[in-house]
This record gives sequence, C-alpha cells and structure tokens, in this order.
Amino acid sequence: MTDTQETEGVQDTEAKSAFLARLRAFEGRHAESGRVALDPVNAPMIRHWAEAMGDTNPVYTDAAFAETTHFGGIVAPATMLQVWTMRGLQTGAGPPDSPVTKLYDLIVEAGFGSVVATNCEQEYTRPLRLGEVVEYDQLIESVSEEKTTGLGVGHFVTTLTNLYVRPEAPGEGRELIGTHRFRILRFRPHPRPPREPARKPRPRRVVNRDNQPFWDGVDADQLLIQRCTRCGTLRLPFGPGCNACASLEWDTVEAAGGGTVYSHVTMHYPKFPAFDMPYCVALVELDEGVRTLCNIVGVPHDAVHIGMRVALEFVRHDAELKVPAFRPTEPSREA
Ligand code: ZN
Repeated sequence: MTDTQETEGVQDTEAKSAFLARLRAFEGRHAESGRVALDPVNAPMIRHWAEAMGDTNPVYTDAAFAETTHFGGIVAPATMLQVWTMRGLQTGAGPPDSPVTKLYDLIVEAGFGSVVATNCEQEYTRPLRLGEVVEYDQLIESVSEEKTTGLGVGHFVTTLTNLYVRPEAPGEGRELIGTHRFRILRFRPHPRPPREPARKPRPRRVVNRDNQPFWDGVDADQLLIQRCTRCGTLRLPFGPGCNACASLEWDTVEAAGGGTVYSHVTMHYPKFPAFDMPYCVALVELDEGVRTLCNIVGVPHDAVHIGMRVALEFVRHDAELKVPAFRPTEPSREA
C-alpha cells in the first residue's frame, strides 16, 4: 500500500464515522407525533383488505355475525394495523421538515439511493372497532453503522410507530392499541459487471418429408435444386410437386455455387439474441435460375447491393446447425 492510499484509507474512515455521527443524531427523535389517520376504521377498507388477503372470517365483514361474538360488532383484522397509518399515494414519505425525511435525504445524498424493507415487527393489544380513529407517533429508533450486505453497502434505519385510539373526549388518556417496528436498508448497490447476454442458439432447421433431401444435401456440403423429371423445371425451395406441370416425379441437381443478389433487406429489429444485429438477408438468384433466401457473410450489411456476385458456402453455427450462405466474390463498392 502506498502512503497516498493509506492516507485516503484513514480519511475514508474518519469521513465514515463523521457521517455516522450525523445520522445517529436523529436517533430517538420523533418523526411524527400525534398524527391522525386519514380515515377512521371503516367497513369498506376492511372488506377490501380481507378480499385482497383472502381472509373470509365473517367477524370482519358480516355485521350480524360479528354482533354474536364477544367483540359485539365488526372489528378490523389486527394485521391491518399499518393500513391506518398509510399516508396515501400522493402525499410522499413524510412532511419535508420531518426528521425522518431529513435523515433519508442525508442518506440518499451520500449515495445510498436504493431502499429495501428488511424487517417488520408488530404487536397488537386489541382489535380496532368501526369508527375508531387511530393516531400515531413515530420514533427514529436506530441507525446502523455502514454495513455490507448481499445487496450493497448501506445503513439500516429502524423506526418505531406507536398506535393509539384517539380519546373521545379531550384530556382522556390515549389507549395504545399496537406497535409497528419497521426496518429498512438504504443502500448503494454493488456495481455489477456488464453481463454479456448469453448467446441463444439459432432457430433450428424445420425438416419435413418434402425438404429432407435438401437438408441431407446441406449436410454433404451440396446445395441441391429440385428438378421435375417430366418437364425439367427447376424449383427451390423443395416442394411436393411441379408448379409447371403438376408432376410429382423429381430428382435433384447440385447448384454450381455462383449467384447474384436479386434483392436484400437489413434486419435491425426485432433483436433476436441468436443473431448479430444488424444483419443482411438476401434473395440470391443462382446461376441455374432459381432463387433462395440466405445470409450474406463476409461483408458489412450496408455493402450488399443488388446485382452483387456471390458464391455459395456453408456456415456451421453449432454442432447441429449448418446452413447455406453466400459471400461476395467482388470487392465492395466502398473499397
Ligand atoms: Zn414439371
């Protein structure tokens, strides 16, 4: 280790402990105090919650049944506790001047921009009844030193929320009905090495009874053309009968390998993981007069042009896949 590195290491440690001291100054501070729930405990929210959770206990939804229980009426599921303190979608995490907001801002500014909830502990003293209004205090209970986790480096922040039923008459004591301890990790994710997308295999050849002889030819490094034995018409791709005379009798001739680009397109999209984008797909007219679709290799996609002379070759993509392709036999125009 050089002197410079050592100095930086010491400075780094000092900076970390100074930062931790700033964070820990928030410990024990009230983030919220006497905040009142947006809605009193009510049947629609209970019903939606029970439906979403699949909880069919009728004491939550059936008033007639609930009256026969020792609760004497509908109660809210105890585990719904946090629902009553939620701030709504549009209101943000907390008031901008709240200590918890300031604490989180400080942590985010230091580069710990990601967040994940890690622990939730709740205690319930009794179920809430319809019409009761919850109010709550939230305390910043603890901030951890910098920790290295599987997700990244960061600080755990634990808040403790005490929930009460608001007294019906002013001056009456608040009744504690539950506590909610929540721990989050504010962290900087580990840098990930850029991952090369796994090369997917190219689509397989679709072999059927009509084209089996064509692919057998490819395996033998031959580009076969079908020939009608009645009228002599050549055809490619392979098919069951002659388009000229309808004869089902045929044999094959081997293409000599010369051809001309009749037409071509360059594929930019969609991005198939099996192909190097962009790539050229050409309709090559063989010197024998039939045309075949294939890739043009050995030349940039934008150097392919109509009328370009090309020669047959066979490209093996993997152990199972060999296909015909064509390579230009003339220098490209740009050259
Ligand atoms: Zn024919």
